Amino acid sequence: MKVHAYAANEAKGQLSKLEYDLKDVGSNDIEIKISHCGICHSDIHLVDNALGITKYPFVPGHEIVGTVTKVGASAKRFKVGDRVGVGWQSGSCGVCEFCSVGDENLCAKMESTCVTQYGGYGDSFVVNEHFAIAIPEGMSSEQAAPLMCGGVTVYQPLRYYGIKPNMRTAVVGIGGLGHIAIQFLAAMGCEVTAISSSDNKAKEAAALGASHFISLSKEPKLDKHTNYFDFIMSTASVDLDWNAFFQALKPKGQLCLIGLNSKEITVPAAPLVFGQRTVCGSWIGSPSMIRETVEFAHRNKINVMTEQMKMDTVNAAIKKVRANEVRYRAVLTN
Ligand SMILES: [Zn+2]
Ligand SMILES: [Zn+2]
Repeated sequence: MKVHAYAANEAKGQLSKLEYDLKDVGSNDIEIKISHCGICHSDIHLVDNALGITKYPFVPGHEIVGTVTKVGASAKRFKVGDRVGVGWQSGSCGVCEFCSVGDENLCAKMESTCVTQYGGYGDSFVVNEHFAIAIPEGMSSEQAAPLMCGGVTVYQPLRYYGIKPNMRTAVVGIGGLGHIAIQFLAAMGCEVTAISSSDNKAKEAAALGASHFISLSKEPKLDKHTNYFDFIMSTASVDLDWNAFFQALKPKGQLCLIGLNSKEITVPAAPLVFGQRTVCGSWIGSPSMIRETVEFAHRNKINVMTEQMKMDTVNAAIKKVRANEVRYRAVLTN
């Protein structure tokens, strides 16, 4: 069977049509007819070969949602017709110390949905069923797609770093990741402060569940919030005044970086030593963490703000994402 996909043929290039043979459905695999695929910023970094790992032709796409069309002989989780999603990861070794405790996203032999093979900007995909996520009835495919990567990327650190309902938390950046993180933290019962460089996002932050708003243009040093936060998540795509952020953490507070946006941060030693503060990071999540993300989002009526665009308008969609004009996650549809 032929897959009809969209591929970049050079760094920063436009995507054009690519036809290739769908791989055989192995005994533990399922075949998926793709209905939706989110556009994640990492897709664009990969199109641009910003990480130096892109092979061309390159088919992006790792926020896949679709319907199961074929089931391998030993695959047991799904049947034809089920709605499933696939995120960044599509395989792992299965036996290392991380895989064996369900931390597959830390496996050194991880396979990526769109790096080691052609990704989800197409009409079909084959994946080991272990890396497919059931989409609950009542959750739209458009809502589900961005949860596969963006959603779990902000959910996993909240679980891993032990967020509790009494905590004072902050999210830096109100965008594709930040607008989901604010809702998750509010649903967990935390006090949430949205921190943004744009003054005009206060209303929107409040609507998402933030009880406070800090404009970095008005309070660049966070000096009214010294020793205030238990947990700050940075989704910012620019370097921040890290010293100010450390001063804003309470003793034992954690500053968590997600995504690949910050290149390097300088860590001031004193607030780490005297207050036992931590700087940490997180990326994507295991299949079980994606399942939990989806269930949590569904039960708590998290509203991922999306814009749907047809798969054949992919170049226009990418242009819009590059220009930061999408509120907040673009989802391609077949
Ligand atoms: Zn992603
Ligand atoms: Zn492994």
